[in-house]
Amino acid sequence: MSNIAAAIITIGDELLIGQTIDTNSAWIAQHLNELGIDVLRRVAVGDDRNAILTALDTELANAELVIITGGLGPTADDITKPLLNEYFGGKMVVNESVLEHLKDRFLKHNRPFLERNLKQAEVPDNCTILFNKYGTAPGMWFNKQDKVIISLPGVPFEMVSIMENEALPKLRERFFSDALLHRSIVTAGEGESFIAEAIKDIEEALPAHIKLAYLPGAGMVKLRLTGRGKDSIKLAAELDAKQKDVAKRLENIVVAMEDIPMQQILGRWFTSHNATFGLAESCTGGYISHYITQVAGASNYFNGGIVCYQDELKEKILGVKKETLEQYHAVSEQTVTEMAQGALRVLHVDYAFAITGLLGPAAPDDSAPVGTVWMAVANKDTVKTKMFHFPYDRERNKEMAASMGMLMILKFLTATLTPNPSR
Ligand code: ATP
Ligand code: MG
Repeated sequence: MSNIAAAIITIGDELLIGQTIDTNSAWIAQHLNELGIDVLRRVAVGDDRNAILTALDTELANAELVIITGGLGPTADDITKPLLNEYFGGKMVVNESVLEHLKDRFLKHNRPFLERNLKQAEVPDNCTILFNKYGTAPGMWFNKQDKVIISLPGVPFEMVSIMENEALPKLRERFFSDALLHRSIVTAGEGESFIAEAIKDIEEALPAHIKLAYLPGAGMVKLRLTGRGKDSIKLAAELDAKQKDVAKRLENIVVAMEDIPMQQILGRWFTSHNATFGLAESCTGGYISHYITQVAGASNYFNGGIVCYQDELKEKILGVKKETLEQYHAVSEQTVTEMAQGALRVLHVDYAFAITGLLGPAAPDDSAPVGTVWMAVANKDTVKTKMFHFPYDRERNKEMAASMGMLMILKFLTATLTPNPSR
């Protein structure tokens, strides 16, 4: 069975002048992919009647599914809705459920409902409404012969919520009779090629209806098994077995058996071990604390973080010795060790992580080269340290430092960190 072919059209002048980066089509493509729908083309056009019509004609000639985002707002430059109405030969009618949702929103925000807002409740009579719980403009689903056209608002979180709650389930129903199931394995510490080599025989022996995808991230590789089949119970059992085979082979690097971010993996470890955790952050300025607190329930294990950017605070709050700072400077193994030990004490935690480094672009002095970052994890018995050199710009270096830092914490917790490796 060949895959369903799709196209994505993103609408908005702001996309063409580079003011807004088109994240919508990337998100949509990724999620259609997971469903087994191939995106053949992605097109961006301005808020221009002819451009939109041409794009629709062109894409509908080759794709069975076209997803459009943008231009659904109430302002004059938002022309997608009347244009689609015309294109599919419909009539604009007030939709009662949209009207009710709008009035409800206006009431909640204490704003008067104007005549002009009534227009927002009008939709083509030949489409199915996709409910937009976060915004005013509903999504619209059109059928044209055997093709499907979906129009969604441009606001990314509105688009995502409509896709997740309305469009994707309907697409699955519309295009696939088979069950589609996923299993994930998150690994850390080895690259794609190492993994591919290690599980070569398992991968080669996968039946045609089960596919394996490698999704690499910073220091981590996610593996995703996707299976398709008539019998979902049988398929689930098959996938479980394959997931187990792969995980067993990669035993030393598996950190989760489902697709969850590192901060959540850490959260689960602290929760299940009934342990507390704290941070002392210099160069990352609280960024790791931000990640840690993204997890609901973090207060059960995360006591807090100290952003000690200046040496004076490292000394006063964390108790890093003046001599250490003078002799070895802020970015050093000695300093980061004392920071982690200080955080253990000051934050009253079972585990503490400390980080200090130079993210660039310039080094303030010649105590360490740009991109040098020292990290330490400590409990009351041990401290493990590690040095990194990040070669990117400041922002990416910070991102890498946070990722590698969380990975280092996990390795410490699960005791797979080799003694003092540096790279
Ligand atoms: P609304 O009903 O809220 O007005 P809309 O459908 O009219 O939504 P637009 O006016 O096109 O959507 O865009 C709304 C916001 O979404 C803008 O801030 C815009 O920059 C952003 N946006 C639009 N298209 C995209 C896209 N493809 N990727 C990311 N952001 C986008
Ligand atoms: Mg617009």
